[in-house]
Amino acid sequence: MAGKRVLVTGGAGFLGSHLCERLLQQGDFVLCVDNFFTGTRRNILHLLDDKRFELMRHDVTFPLYVEVDEIYNLACPASPIHYQFDPVQTTKTSVIGAINMLGLAKRVKAKILQASTSEVYGDPTVHPQPEEYWGNVNPFGIRACYDEGKRCAETLFFDYRRQHNLPIKIVRIFNTYGPRMHPNDGRVVSNFIVQALKGENITVYGDGSQTRSFCYRDDLVEAFLRAMATPREVTGPINIGNPKEFTIRQLAELVIELTASKSKIVEAPLPADDPKQRQPDIQKAKKLLAWTPTTELREGLVKTIAYFEDLLSQEGVNLH
Ligand code: NAD
Ligand code: UDP
Ligand code: UDP
Repeated sequence: MAGKRVLVTGGAGFLGSHLCERLLQQGDFVLCVDNFFTGTRRNILHLLDDKRFELMRHDVTFPLYVEVDEIYNLACPASPIHYQFDPVQTTKTSVIGAINMLGLAKRVKAKILQASTSEVYGDPTVHPQPEEYWGNVNPFGIRACYDEGKRCAETLFFDYRRQHNLPIKIVRIFNTYGPRMHPNDGRVVSNFIVQALKGENITVYGDGSQTRSFCYRDDLVEAFLRAMATPREVTGPINIGNPKEFTIRQLAELVIELTASKSKIVEAPLPADDPKQRQPDIQKAKKLLAWTPTTELREGLVKTIAYFEDLLSQEGVNLH
């Protein structure tokens, strides 16, 4: 059904802004709600002239009374630097934000999708991670505000389902990258590209043998749309990510190659609780969403590098 009224919380962020764009392209009306903690107007400037797009500055930890048909709940800082800046606010955003959005969904009878995370698996002891794995999370470490906040949000989604029969969808996102990532948010892909383009040292934390699996943002947004369109009985959680696993050192080498940079790889201390390996088992996404990622890391990195080259060349650009 085109022409739905769709709320995207965190809509001015990296993934949210792409989702807003795709929803507008398919004919929906989009209400983008964001408190601009990590999101920026720059990400959605090009959408502001569209009559079907509306922007509201709002913090999801406060109630929100609007009329919509679908809700994508993405509001939450995603990078360790940002979610650890004010950890109490991070937990509030995930937990109170989820309660408010679920309360809203209940009142207006909207379908609601939660952007959960591979971090619910913590530092996994099962590899690759299927949705049935309950995870290995440190409940009081420096990543807990994010990991436990997201786990509690999943609990709330399922309890609203059980208590109020809400149509819910939960997707667990694995590391995703692409244009419009925040240049200063400390995530590995943006860090390495910016460092390479500036000719600075590439900071590999630890010995770089830890692994991640990187999904290009277009693949991910496609999975969001497919998850929302599933029948009522499909709740998830469903892993979404690219199962091709790379070591962080391999990523650094690839970025140096693709930018033809003279940067050198240096080792820096490994942050606490940094997961050693991460790779999604995407059997469920394949079966339930008929989805599989199609963008190779090399191809996605070329596009992301072009974005950062352009951003860095804009003199005096306000990077926030
Ligand atoms: P992002 O930081 O670019 O986007 C998050 C957005 O939420 C920002 O625009 C921010 O300003 C907004 N926000 C934060 N707190 C808010 C609040 N209290 N009220 C309203 N808005 C608020 O990050 P992203 O990568 O686009 O992530 C989007 C979602 O996907 C997040 O929920 C994140 O946890 C999840 N996710 C992302 C990844 C990834 O690799 N990018 C991986 C796993 C999960
Ligand atoms: N809420 C909201 N928008 C709405 C409806 C509810 O933000 O349109 C918030 C409301 O502030 C409440 C929360 O969602 O605290 C949970 O709502 P619910 O109806 O589930 O619970 P209750 O109101 O009984 O606490
Ligand atoms: N990382 C790194 N150098 C950086 C930034 C991150 O080596 O400049 C490592 C980090 O320690 C982790 C991996 O890259 O092992 C992915 O980090 P990111 O913060 O992007 O995501 P997450 O840890 O949440 O998967």
